[in-house]
Amino acid sequence: MTLHIAFDNSYARLPDALYTRVAPTPVQAPHLLAYNDALAAELGLDVAEADRATLFAGNTVPEGADPLAQAYAGHQFGGFSPSLGDGRAVLLGEVIDRNGQRRDIQLKGSGRTPYSRAGDGRAWMGPVLREYVISEAMHALGIPTTRALAAVATGERIQRETGLPGAVLTRVAGSHLRVGHFEYFAARGDTASLRALYEYAVDRHHPDATDPLDFLRGVIARQADLVTRWMGIGFIHGVMNTDNTSISGETIDYGPCAFMDSYHPDTVYSSIDQFGRYAYSNQPQVLPWNMAKLASALLPLMPDPDAAIAPFTEAVHAMPDQIEANWLRVFGAKIGISAPVAEDRALISDLLALMQAGNSDFTNTFRALPTDEAKDQLADRDAFLDWVDRWHARLEGEPDAAALMNRTNPAVIPRNHRVEQMISAAVEGDMAPFHTLTHALATPFEMPADTTLTRPPVKGEEVTATFCG
Ligand code: AMP
Ligand code: MG
Ligand code: MG
Repeated sequence: MTLHIAFDNSYARLPDALYTRVAPTPVQAPHLLAYNDALAAELGLDVAEADRATLFAGNTVPEGADPLAQAYAGHQFGGFSPSLGDGRAVLLGEVIDRNGQRRDIQLKGSGRTPYSRAGDGRAWMGPVLREYVISEAMHALGIPTTRALAAVATGERIQRETGLPGAVLTRVAGSHLRVGHFEYFAARGDTASLRALYEYAVDRHHPDATDPLDFLRGVIARQADLVTRWMGIGFIHGVMNTDNTSISGETIDYGPCAFMDSYHPDTVYSSIDQFGRYAYSNQPQVLPWNMAKLASALLPLMPDPDAAIAPFTEAVHAMPDQIEANWLRVFGAKIGISAPVAEDRALISDLLALMQAGNSDFTNTFRALPTDEAKDQLADRDAFLDWVDRWHARLEGEPDAAALMNRTNPAVIPRNHRVEQMISAAVEGDMAPFHTLTHALATPFEMPADTTLTRPPVKGEEVTATFCG
């Protein structure tokens, strides 16, 4: 095997309690489905084409890798699970990318680990390709996210509701540190490991943080930014448990996530989100809740934890105002306002109300705003034209409004029905829809060659539920 990956595995040098060393489990017949050449170049990886399938299936562990599964806990739908951890993923190791940034390289779906509990440690091809397409689309949309380096079919069938083809995703992240990592050690009262984790996270993501409170504020700022970016493109994460909330501020763990087609604040796709806890419009409220869990987990690190409760609480309570300010900036830009003020909120909300009443397509309505075609997206034209009058009056003194809108409002998103079609084709061995989608989604602010990618689902095409896999 002729490959060179310059691993430097800082996580594997941390205290033993933070992880368990475990190799990926080899698979029967690895076959490369997709490879991200641009990301490989960014990471400085040089892996010969012939070696990619075996390497990214986990069949060979490259020199310098030190595979391990990380320990973490998490609040899932509000209830605490003290022991989750990487149940179907291993961190191969870390590399320093071309920009000097440390990046994790992880195999997901690579077999059982000591944290697998009843799970099989595997993933099927559907969620693997889904995560590949959607995480890369998010990146192209300018949203902090983990990335997808490779997808490999395993040649094995795995059992879900039916037998399905297995696959492994190679995921790249600024790190895989989650809120749940801190909860794991706080719940055990293992302050020494908690401190080691904290110091590691500070070094890696918040080097200027002066103490755990300052660190908390840093994570809050990133999450407040991230969630409003999700809102701006109609993204619904679907499983915003604390084990799926990253310290780096990247979108992580694409499971039953989805992009909204027609606008409704209560939209839920995830089949496991029975009560709509993680509905589109609840997302900005969930993050402060998750940050409160991080705050609690960090308290034991303070010299006087009781005295720290008040300032930690205050830091969490400041988050909704930050989110509101970010939301106004994001949605202001969507209607061409470069420096929105509080009074603009009504203008934005009134448009959203019209969109909701008219089942307007979220993406296409905003994209069409600078054009005459916008009115076709709204059911109540008269009300919309009244709104347009107010809007145009507000846009006086915004000469670059159309340009701002066109670089803020994507023309193409990974629509659920196209993602599902892509998966069905891939299962049949046809990767063409995958390539068409990833190619168009690499430049989401440009009209794709295949204009049908911008079309909302017609009757019979709608996807009403998404699954974890
Ligand atoms: P998720 O909600 O998908 O982020 O996963 C929650 C927890 O379940 C994590 O600890 C995962 O590692 C674990 N998990 C999910 N699917 C599997 C699987 N097929 N086998 C083992 N563990 C899994
Ligand atoms: Mg260990
Ligand atoms: Mg997860």
